[in-house]
Amino acid sequence: MDFQNQKKYNVIFKDRKAVLTGYNDQICLLFDKKDGVLDLGDIKVLDNYPEGSYCVFFSSLSMEERKQITLDNGDPLFKDCECSLIFDDKPNSDLLKDYIEITDDTIEYYVPDLLFDPSKYATVKCKNCGKKYKVNRKMGYRSSFFEWNVIAPENNAYDFSLIKNIIPAQLHDKVKQLIEDYSSLSDEDMWYKYNLEECWLSLEEYEDEKEEIDLIGFLIVNLLVENDFIAG
Ligand SMILES: [Zn+2]
Repeated sequence: MDFQNQKKYNVIFKDRKAVLTGYNDQICLLFDKKDGVLDLGDIKVLDNYPEGSYCVFFSSLSMEERKQITLDNGDPLFKDCECSLIFDDKPNSDLLKDYIEITDDTIEYYVPDLLFDPSKYATVKCKNCGKKYKVNRKMGYRSSFFEWNVIAPENNAYDFSLIKNIIPAQLHDKVKQLIEDYSSLSDEDMWYKYNLEECWLSLEEYEDEKEEIDLIGFLIVNLLVENDFIAG
């Protein structure tokens, strides 16, 4: 399972710093105990799980509460539809009935002690955007989320996994290579390899502009245009 539960995101929830990550196979918010006692009212908090943390399972938060989580720079955590806020939930969770419609109710849910069985899926549909998800009866929605739809913070601008979902699959290798080259090649090598005279008149112009601003976003868009995925 390629679920990115080892990733960590610094977030703010109810004015308190936390790390959104996977722990022991569940997505959770971890609050540092050094910051003092955590009181979240009715929200269930596990004390010292893992050691030194207060733990709140993502699936125990209501959708309204999930929407309040932001990155530590203030940006919203997730983009697009609120259905992107679903990870560990089971399809018939009360939390989700306003958001998700079960379209293929062929499996029983909440069967305890059932070993992971990839064939036991239901298909569900977001009532808002119509996006369909496959839901495993034991693992919940996480099987549909190989990547989190997280808006990239500034310092992660080169992390391909964060933009993967918006790049056509046919171009994944090319864009990955482009990102790698941008970080490793000299400006001159980059210039010749990617025929940049079609974007900048001269190598000097490219070098000057690159000193001013980060050009990777532009180069990726240019690659999409060249491959006819965006009208130039
Ligand atoms: Zn949706």
